[in-house]
Amino acid sequence: MGFTSHQVVDAVREIQRLNSGEGGTDVSATDIMTVLLREDHHQTTEALNVPETRTAEEIGGATFDDTDLILEENRQLQEQRQCKVCREFDSTVAFLPCGHIVCCTDCAPAMRKCPVC
Ligand SMILES: [Zn+2]
Ligand SMILES: [Zn+2]
Repeated sequence: MGFTSHQVVDAVREIQRLNSGEGGTDVSATDIMTVLLREDHHQTTEALNVPETRTAEEIGGATFDDTDLILEENRQLQEQRQCKVCREFDSTVAFLPCGHIVCCTDCAPAMRKCPVC
């Protein structure tokens, strides 16, 4: 992997800034690598910010890093939020007395009781 000298200088500055509160200014190579790798990962995360185009199959076959976990979590949250009847709109109507939010405003009037209870 390659880092520009600009990135290394930035990393050293950040470490010195973090260490300054503790009275130490020692910067080890490990510290620099930690900061550089963290920034590298951050860039990768931004580049992969296209959850809509990823299928479950792709996610399952890909190597699982934090980004994949976050994307998978987002997908599951979206599914949970979906109207359980039409699966087209977000659930916005809460049933009583259970409080389940499983239907959109279009489908809720057709439900006499909560569809998941
Ligand atoms: Zn619906
Ligand atoms: Zn319910």
